[in-house]
Amino acid sequence: MTDARTISLFNTLTRRVEPVRPQVPGELRVYNCGPTIYNYVHIGNLRTFLFQDLLRRTFEAAGYRVAFCMNLTDVDDKIIRDSQKDVPAAADNEARLGAMRAFTDVYERAFLEDVDALRIQRPTVMPRATSYIGAMVALVAALETRGLAYERDGSVYYRVAGLPQYGCLSHIDRDGMKAGASVDSDEYDRDSASDFVLWKGTKPGEPWWESPWGKGRPGWHIECSAMALDVLGERVDVHTGGVDLIFPHHENEIAQSEGAIGHPWVAHWVHGEFLMVEGEKMSKSLGNFFTLRDLVARGVDPLTFRFAIQGNHYRKLYNFSFEGLRAAKATLDRVRTFRQRMEDPPGPPREGAPAVDLDVEARVATARDEFWAALADDLNTPEALAALLTLVTDVNSLDDWRPLPAAARGLVVAFLDETDRIFAAWPTVGRVVLDTDVEALIAARSAAKAARNWPEADRLRDQLKAMGILLEDRKDGTVRWKRAE
Ligand SMILES: [Zn+2]
Repeated sequence: MTDARTISLFNTLTRRVEPVRPQVPGELRVYNCGPTIYNYVHIGNLRTFLFQDLLRRTFEAAGYRVAFCMNLTDVDDKIIRDSQKDVPAAADNEARLGAMRAFTDVYERAFLEDVDALRIQRPTVMPRATSYIGAMVALVAALETRGLAYERDGSVYYRVAGLPQYGCLSHIDRDGMKAGASVDSDEYDRDSASDFVLWKGTKPGEPWWESPWGKGRPGWHIECSAMALDVLGERVDVHTGGVDLIFPHHENEIAQSEGAIGHPWVAHWVHGEFLMVEGEKMSKSLGNFFTLRDLVARGVDPLTFRFAIQGNHYRKLYNFSFEGLRAAKATLDRVRTFRQRMEDPPGPPREGAPAVDLDVEARVATARDEFWAALADDLNTPEALAALLTLVTDVNSLDDWRPLPAAARGLVVAFLDETDRIFAAWPTVGRVVLDTDVEALIAARSAAKAARNWPEADRLRDQLKAMGILLEDRKDGTVRWKRAE
């Protein structure tokens, strides 16, 4: 038995919000399509990873043990193209595999740096595709045995006409499928739905592995099926990814896994929506393409980006803008300032305080119920956040007149810490340094300098330094500041 709270999520398979009922009560097995480590991930990718983190944190806070598997795609068309560019034509296979490994290692490290900066919890298991080649070959062989795969010129293809449920996830029109036509590329659109490649015969200049069909390498789609079956077994509770993966990637994953095991595989398919930039699709050619590093270079705190994303519903299109980040930062600062205020000892009541009183314990209990109920209903973070912000307003206006006693302050702080298990954006220890605090101290220092009060100006400079703020006095009398690394 378990007392874990029931969470409902939109299921792409049924197109309904449905309660998630894990195979083993209280334990959730989640497979998440992870990054292709051939470049720095962009903020659209990061939105997907933040949604996956939100899902995990919600289940964990609700009392589930979560096996959270996220793969790293370290072999595919793009990785081979980019990693083999500078490898001499005469290089042997070992050198080619080594070059690919060295190339992907760089971007795996960069990915984990982004994950840590955004306080995305690291996966409990993070399989790399190239470590599962044996499992992929075995899976392709099993499909061949079942008559769902066929070989042609050293490559192996999936026979989509052989599986009645092909199209169940993306609701593709089966009549439009080109039976017998086969595609070799990993990515293609619905119009060219046809037999897809499971194993690709090697071409000159590519790294390869041995297989019953000769030298070759896995197709992208088989990678996830093999890793998920190997790590999580034949029943997966929740499988996630961005909406762009519904077709063909996830449709093909279902075909491969269910074709081989012969029974339903994933109970709940959950997809996160796209991110647009200032109303347009993000693309390098439009010059609106950002990585987390680009944002940091523009002075954006990764936690502000995290909060901006998590404050929106994962199934709604998110329109990224710097204006939106500023608004998110203002809300974030409001919660942080409130938390500091609640940590400070209560002052005396104000003269003429009205007699109204607030049952703080009951008020926090209501906010808590609303907060968790919103998350349990398809991860509704905007509503959860609204419950929290209403509490902030109510308690602030009471505290202005009649400061809450220490015990009530403690209750409020405990609730804020509870909500931070999800948002991970207001600290649970120590004080944060707010921009407004810094600017107030800089203004005080400028005033001290204007009054030729040098000891006071120096003291303020030292105080800022102790807070990790570095100052730069400019010739025109203005002061620039930045946070120390
Ligand atoms: Zn995948």
